[in-house]
Parts: sequence; C-alpha cells; structure tokens
Amino acid sequence: MIKLLPEKCIGCGLCVKACLFGGITLDNKEPALNEYCTACGACVDVCKVGAIVLEGERSKAGHDTSLYSGIWVVAEQRRGRLQPVALELLGKARQLADARGSSVTAVLLGSGMDMHGETLIQHGADKVFLADASFLSDYRTLPAERVIGGLIEQHKPEVILFGATTMGRDLAPRIANRFRTGLTADCTGLEMSPDGLLLQTRPAFGGNIMATITTPLHRPQMATVRPGVMKAQHSPGRKGDIETVTAEPAPSDDLVHILSSVKKEQGRIALDKADVIVSGGRGLRDPRNFKLLEELAGFFSGQVGASRAAVDMGWIAHDHQVGQTGKTVRPTMYIACGISGAVQHLAGMQNSDIIVAINKDPQAPIFSIAHYALVGDMNIIVPALIEQLKSA
Ligand SMILES: Cc1cc2nc3c(=O)[nH]c(=O)nc-3n(C[C@H](O)[C@H](O)[C@H](O)COP(=O)(O)OP(=O)(O)OC[C@H]3O[C@@H](n4cnc5c(N)ncnc54)[C@H](O)[C@@H]3O)c2cc1C
Repeated sequence: MIKLLPEKCIGCGLCVKACLFGGITLDNKEPALNEYCTACGACVDVCKVGAIVLEGERSKAGHDTSLYSGIWVVAEQRRGRLQPVALELLGKARQLADARGSSVTAVLLGSGMDMHGETLIQHGADKVFLADASFLSDYRTLPAERVIGGLIEQHKPEVILFGATTMGRDLAPRIANRFRTGLTADCTGLEMSPDGLLLQTRPAFGGNIMATITTPLHRPQMATVRPGVMKAQHSPGRKGDIETVTAEPAPSDDLVHILSSVKKEQGRIALDKADVIVSGGRGLRDPRNFKLLEELAGFFSGQVGASRAAVDMGWIAHDHQVGQTGKTVRPTMYIACGISGAVQHLAGMQNSDIIVAINKDPQAPIFSIAHYALVGDMNIIVPALIEQLKSA
C-alpha cells in the first residue's frame, strides 16, 4: 500500500530516519522498500516532496465513531468454568465505563452457562448476552466469530476486551479483521480519554519502551489483556439484565470437529495462583542458591519464580519465569532476590500487592517499585530472614 515516486525524491533521507523497522532504503537517491516495511505510513508523513504515498484501504476514512457505545468483555469459559480473566476484565471495563459514562456488557458463549450470568453482573456487567447452545460448548473459531460478530454488528460497542489467552489470541484478531479495526495485544494498562479514545498501553520494541496505542478512526476499539494483569471487583448486590441470544449452528462450523480435549498436565508450578512468590535472578550467582529461595518460600507455602536471565542460564525451568515472556503474577507478596528490575521483568510482577526487593546495588531499578528495599548481599539477607522466620 506504500507507493514510491522516485522521480520526485530529492534524496533527503528523512524517510529512512523515520522508519522504525528499517523498511526503506535510499541508494543514490533511489528509494526502495524491503520486506521489513509494515506500511505504517511513517515515511509518508515525513516526506516533504510527496515522493511516497499511501494507497488503498488505509487511506480511506474510518467508521462513524458516534454510532458506537458501551464497553464489552468477551467472557471466556473452559469446560463450563468461567475463567478468572473474564472477571478481571470486567473490573477494568467497569472503571472505563464509569469514566466514559457508559455501560458494561459481558458476552458469554457455551452450553449450560445459566449460572454464570449473575457472577458476571456481580463483577461489573450491566448486561450479559448469553449464547447457550450445545455447538458452542467447546471454543471453535468460526462459530464464536459468527455469533459474537453478529452481536457486534447489531449493537456496535465502542470497546471490546478479550483475555490474552489461547482463545482470546485466536478470536480477537479474527474479529478485528472482520470489522477492519485496530487491536492491541497484551495490554498492561487501559484508560479512557475524555473523548472516548481507549488508551492502550503495552511494552513495545522488545519491551524497551511502554507505548500507548489508540484506534482513532475505527470501531470497536479492541484489546487483549493477559490473565492476572487487571483486578476483579466483586459487588454481590449488583443488578443487571441477562439476555439470551439465539445461536444456530452453520455448515461452516463443521470445518473443525473437536474429537476430544485433553487437559494439559499441570506442572508443579502454579505461579499465578501463589500468594507469595520468591524470585531469583542473575544476582544469585549460583543455581544452588535457589534452594535458599525454596526454603524462604516454604514458610509462606509460596512458589519460586525467576528472571529470564536465571532461566536462560539454565538455573531453573522456564515454567518459573516471571515477566513479559514468562508469567504475569499478582501475589500478595513478591520477593525479588538479585533481580535488577528490567522493564520486561516488571511487566510480569509490578501489580503484586507488596514487593520486597533484595539487591546489593542501591540504584537497581527494582527499588523504584519496591515497597520494602533491602540493600545488601542476598547470600546474607535471605539466610537471615530464614533464621528470623524459624525463630518466629
Ligand atoms: C523481548 C524481551 C523479553 C524479555 N522477557 C523477560 C521476562 O519475561 N522476564 C525477565 O525477567 N526478563 C525478560 N527479559 C530480559 C530482561 O531484559 C533482563 O535481561 C532480565 O530480566 C535480567 O535478569 P536479572 O535481573 O536476573 O539479571 P541482571 O539484570 O543481570 O541483574 C542482576 C541483579 O542482581 C544484583 N546482584 C548481584 N549480586 C547480588 C547479590 N549477591 N545480592 C543481591 N543482589 C545481587 C545486581 O545488582 C543486579 O541488579 C526480556 C528481554 C527481552 C528483550
């Protein structure tokens, strides 16, 4: 969709500087696009002589945004059980809707889902669309997209949130494509601007910056959020409406048959469910020091986590990794030992209720988010804590 007009190019190189992907080169005043071009249009904006133009669909105007209202959450169930991420997203949706003066709707697909309607309302929904049919019992892309897409067409929500789960990561892009709208994956923060723009924050460029992304022209505005990032809010007295949606199977559903589904064996590590996590990083120096962390975690029936550096060095299995490419956790207490606090690690644990950091470098970034900062050698501090806990 990017078209180059070499005859107009003056070889100033502004386009090369503006491209964050290295997608355009300039050789003897001869601009050329390569496979890294994402057609984002940054080069078009900086070109002062009109030598680069954006053609096709992206240059068209967006949707009539005034027709869209309300915040929706696509609530996920697995084997008939509502997934916690659905309730976490409703907590955030409630805040966004209150800021916008609009309403929250949960959409739930499945079979035998009646009992979940009230739960969704008690966690922030004003309304629940319940599509209850046997062909919807197991998630399949095509029927889910058809049923939810039909509801979107009819009701035009302004915002839709999905869990960044296997299901959400499959379904959300498909729906975004159907409505030709934007989707921001793995958001760590969501806010609403006064004029109704969803401010979607997520780590970008390898996690080195936090980018806030908006979808100014198209609707609905769509985002996925990983489990554990947002906080569920339970208000037992809340009232709302449950509307049953009639959903019929279609021939296209038969493209995929689910013959059986087998639950993956849960490893020993259930970091996302642990109340207390004691994590170790490169500062442990020796993998045997994870034994100390296990002992400390044991006092709280907690689990042991790790930074990517510790995992990459083969000190501990990837199951334990916390962060952008590991797990997102929100325990009551997170104890970080010998972890510097890189932004990719913080992305996975910064919402913990209490953060205790042990690091010998007083300038370590982890201290900027720690509630308790223990400056010193973890080989001295951790054994001392264990002794204190033993005597207590
Ligand atoms: C795309 C991408 C994704 C990533 N995803 C993740 C992720 O999911 N999770 C993650 O953790 N990282 C991730 N990283 C890596 C991240 O950038 C950091 O490299 C990593 O978190 C550093 O791990 P660390 O803090 O253990 O090691 P370091 O940064 O080397 O820090 C070690 C710390 O230990 C301290 N220390 C040393 N000795 C002692 C001692 N005796 N007592 C106390 N303190 C001591 C030092 O002062 C230092 O602060 C990712 C990077 C990229 C590019």
